Amino acid sequence: SAAETEVELTDGFHLVIDALKLNGIETIYGVPGIPITDLGRMAQAEGIRVVSFRHEQNAGNAAAIAGFLTKKPGICLTVSAPGFLNGLTALANATTNCFPMILISGSSEREIVDLQQGDYEEMDQLAIAKPLCKAAFRVLHAADIGIGVARAIRAAVSGRPGGVYLDLPAKLFSQVMDAEAGAKSLVKVIDAAPEQLPAPSAIERALEVLKSAKKPLIILGKGAAYAQADEEIRSFIETTGIPFLPMSMAKGLLPDTHPLNAGAARSTVLKDSDVVLLVGARLNWLLSHGKGKTWGDAPKKFIQIDIEPKEMDSNVEIVAPLVGDIGSVIGALNEGIKSGWTAPSDAWLGDIKARKEVNIAKMSQRLLKNSTPMDFHSALGALKQVIKERPDAILVNEGANTLDLARGVIDMYQPRKRLDVGTWGVMGIGMGFAVAAAVETGKPVLAVEGDSAFGFSGMEVETICRYNLPVCIVVFNNNGIYRGLDTDPTGRDPGTTVFVKDSRYDKMMEAFGGVGYNATTPDELKRFVDEAMNSGRPTLINAVIDPAAGSESGNIGSLNPQSVVKKK
Ligand code: ADP
Ligand code: MG
Repeated sequence: SAAETEVELTDGFHLVIDALKLNGIETIYGVPGIPITDLGRMAQAEGIRVVSFRHEQNAGNAAAIAGFLTKKPGICLTVSAPGFLNGLTALANATTNCFPMILISGSSEREIVDLQQGDYEEMDQLAIAKPLCKAAFRVLHAADIGIGVARAIRAAVSGRPGGVYLDLPAKLFSQVMDAEAGAKSLVKVIDAAPEQLPAPSAIERALEVLKSAKKPLIILGKGAAYAQADEEIRSFIETTGIPFLPMSMAKGLLPDTHPLNAGAARSTVLKDSDVVLLVGARLNWLLSHGKGKTWGDAPKKFIQIDIEPKEMDSNVEIVAPLVGDIGSVIGALNEGIKSGWTAPSDAWLGDIKARKEVNIAKMSQRLLKNSTPMDFHSALGALKQVIKERPDAILVNEGANTLDLARGVIDMYQPRKRLDVGTWGVMGIGMGFAVAAAVETGKPVLAVEGDSAFGFSGMEVETICRYNLPVCIVVFNNNGIYRGLDTDPTGRDPGTTVFVKDSRYDKMMEAFGGVGYNATTPDELKRFVDEAMNSGRPTLINAVIDPAAGSESGNIGSLNPQSVVKKK
């Protein structure tokens, strides 16, 4: 009868969207397809920004770096099995780099998957994701979506940040429930990443060690950049007068031009320092595990600030562990030095200054050449100037020589402006990072890419054009990986590390309505980048680099195993 009251209904689709929105999620990076196409459409209709990519790995990398930039989990949305696996690479990379991210993948019917009866895109995704991320959850009932999303968010951002997998089977999306009960089932995560205060005794211990130092050094890692405790960190360094060394993604936390930046004297300070304070940096391969030739023979004491207790003593003894969040720990250290502090000796600071001056002078010679074809240094000299003039632009950087040399040459002036290959040294982050950097910050992005590195995500230039993002890509085109000169000893094929000679990557951008340039001199390069940054239009500059420039594997050629066997 007409008297029957209609109950308002909601369903899995809407509950997922409502749960994300309730928790302040504003953007989803993904690739549409079965079973999540409508989820993306509805999310867009509900006001979430949905950025659709051409490949899930790039969407995943975008989500990961969005997490790094904002301290909120970046969301990547994929289809089942193959799409999930494509996204999983980015999830594993995010976890390795301590970036908070949630990979949400649709999955096939549990009943069929579990009996291995051969469903469309059948795969036990939860089991596969588990060892590669911080936490993995599956939601089977619409009423549990609120809790599932809440757990995923908390797991991603609390403690050491990392990747979380959320498995949503196709059937879940169309499950209906009473709208009112649905709304009640949602959970707004309270204090998702709680402050973690260090014990006063740990602060005392650390200050005692630091005060005993003759040659102290601070190493800033990307954890320090992530923490967004910029003022506390700057104040600690300037008050103590201790020289600092930024890891690549910590560059700009204090300007690279800061008098206490010891970056240009890296090998000297690693060798000669006697007490090293690590701030959100791990003693992994990037720091030679805290031992060996790099660190010299003199005895060395390490103090480490990290939110993850298990990180302590992972490679060498940590004499003063400071477990806690960087903001709280540095805050406590700042309090602690109020009662007295003696600046490092002029001898130590003088040694560093002298070494820096020599190295900087040597380098600047190489940056000034205005020759054709360009080499890495002359091209980077132009880009160094660009960032100096536009310190709020975001620099994305990947490649081998293109990465290693740009890291040293291009000074950064503001925190979280340099995004690169991170802990794994992985190629393929470029376009995903560039898209998310533009979307999350609204700032212009300069992506400095090796020609090989660019190839891993190059199709996303279409995405950049489609969303009309202010991204300027510079492809360092030296005709190949490391160098452009390899040949096939048998004469059959091109050498294994070379690409098509004299390619014009700029034409790719033009194909999608963006702007393309071919730059053959540093002056041209600078002019084209300036034009791109001024216009904000999607631009790709093919920078012609001497194929003979560059060295095998950039700075890390020593990691290549060598054959001792001579073929007859
Ligand atoms: P880098 O490569 O720059 O040296 P790593 O990724 O090796 O940086 O180290 C980052 C470290 O920072 C990780 O050990 C991580 O646990 C830690 N970290 C991340 N966020 C915080 C935070 N808010 N407070 C304290 N430590 C953090
Ligand atoms: Mg190359």
